Amino acid sequence: MKKWMMTDVFFIATFCLCGCGMLGKQRALVRGRESMAKEKQLDAFISAHVEKIKPMWRAAALASWQASITGKTEDYDKMKELELAIRTVYSNAAEFAYLKEMKESGQIGDPILARQLELLYYGYLSNQIEPGLLKQMVDLDARIAQRFHTYRATMEGTTVTVNDIKAILTTEKNSRRRELAWRASKQVGNEIVADLLQLVRLRNQAARKLGFDNFRTLRLTTGEQDPKELDRIFGELCELTDKSFAIAKADLDRVLAEQYGISPGELMPWHYHDPFFQRAPLVYGQGLDEFYKDADVRQLAEKFYAGIGLSVDDVLQRSDLYERKGKDQGAYSTDIDREGDVRILTNLKNNENWMETALHELGHAAYSKNHDRAEPFLLRDATHSFCTEAVAMFFGRLSRNAFWMQEMLGLSAAQRSQIEKVSAKYLELQQLIAARWMMVMYYFEKQLYTNPDQDLNSLWWDLVEKYQLLKRPPMPPDAGWASKGHFTTSPCYYHNYMLGELLASQWHHYIVHNVLGLGADAGVSYVGQKKVGAYFREEVFAPGIKYHWDEMIRRATGEPLTPKYFVEQFVR
Ligand SMILES: [Zn+2]
Repeated sequence: MKKWMMTDVFFIATFCLCGCGMLGKQRALVRGRESMAKEKQLDAFISAHVEKIKPMWRAAALASWQASITGKTEDYDKMKELELAIRTVYSNAAEFAYLKEMKESGQIGDPILARQLELLYYGYLSNQIEPGLLKQMVDLDARIAQRFHTYRATMEGTTVTVNDIKAILTTEKNSRRRELAWRASKQVGNEIVADLLQLVRLRNQAARKLGFDNFRTLRLTTGEQDPKELDRIFGELCELTDKSFAIAKADLDRVLAEQYGISPGELMPWHYHDPFFQRAPLVYGQGLDEFYKDADVRQLAEKFYAGIGLSVDDVLQRSDLYERKGKDQGAYSTDIDREGDVRILTNLKNNENWMETALHELGHAAYSKNHDRAEPFLLRDATHSFCTEAVAMFFGRLSRNAFWMQEMLGLSAAQRSQIEKVSAKYLELQQLIAARWMMVMYYFEKQLYTNPDQDLNSLWWDLVEKYQLLKRPPMPPDAGWASKGHFTTSPCYYHNYMLGELLASQWHHYIVHNVLGLGADAGVSYVGQKKVGAYFREEVFAPGIKYHWDEMIRRATGEPLTPKYFVEQFVR
């Protein structure tokens, strides 16, 4: 195998360079031989592991896909069964001990093998859970997921979908009806909260047995992230956005209150167009939906990606794009087999929100699709989940870019400048609002895992008041927070969206200046820029998870991850 030849060369080169005496050379030779034997053994272990896990991953991904498009209990059961089987593989204590020993031996010199070892080690570490506890967790997880996806809220005795609620929160002027829709959006939280808290306790129990203080610390560690580093980034961002957010929010409140015919002091959380105030209400001039209502967002996304040389037509053909009864109402991208079968799930409508989502999910999909398949199977993955979020956000942001809209929708220069006037302000507001919202999620989840038995409903509103400057409703707080699906399906993940925004801005800066060779980003739409697609394919997508995320970012942008460009782009 080619890899082994490379390793041999590596060791010969090492001997030549060390220039030590005869005794030293002999020791080095012994160590070299030991090392090579260990590498050979590990390589065989990895091959056997991949042979076993590859079909299991594919089957589980297909089952999960099937469950989310049908909502049927038998499909969720199948998904659960396959997921449990995979986690059982990674729970093998003897194999974990072997990997641990290999890792600690320091004798795996080949970087590709060492990287796979590192990933396997973390994969096994997070699953060193006794079978009974593991089964309880997987069962509960699947039960919540199913109730979550199939639950339909009611408002004034009628069933309403998530899209119905969004429509009311965007357009309704009557405060009472807004409140009812907002409350309907939270019903599912109260429905699942008991199960969710039980799941949190089980997750903590499992983590403590592995020597971690709670599940969150375990999760961050195995995801190659440092809790202290995250605290530092979030602390910095909070400070950097405090003032700008307060100013922007006061201005937004003035405009919103005027539209509802109330005073700013009377504004409640249901007045903000989004159940969690995570998106900016479109109140400055017209919304952008008007420009998309006669367009086909699927076609636009397909055309855009083809234009930058990252065709996704095959992805779209395999995807499930439109609303249907029983189907998951969210959106995601999934890599079924690491061999090119990549799909997205959406509930597309021809509006700006879904344009953004289509671009976002297809960004994930382009990442998965373009991993270099010559790399080992275990390395065909995103460097880190926040890096794939960054790609998705980089492209998702274009749905509000005036120049992108002009080119893709064939708008006039007058229409473009009309959009430009509102979109710059809107984008800035959107990023500020999103950043503050993510702080709520970040600090809440930290507390949730530190102590799931505290008064979480009140804590939620403490944080919402502090970071989002919203007013808590007068009645006793309920578990509406649990209607945020991420608590169940993607625990301790939300901070990655913020890191993704930071990296998306860093890429934007780098690509404008170093790939396109421009002095500033004015008028940049990326439409038809094959260089952009090539940059992402070569620098980011192809290497997969070969490098730690920190190294990938240094290689691809020439510096470590920094909030500098996000602040430069969005915070005045
Ligand atoms: Zn995403």
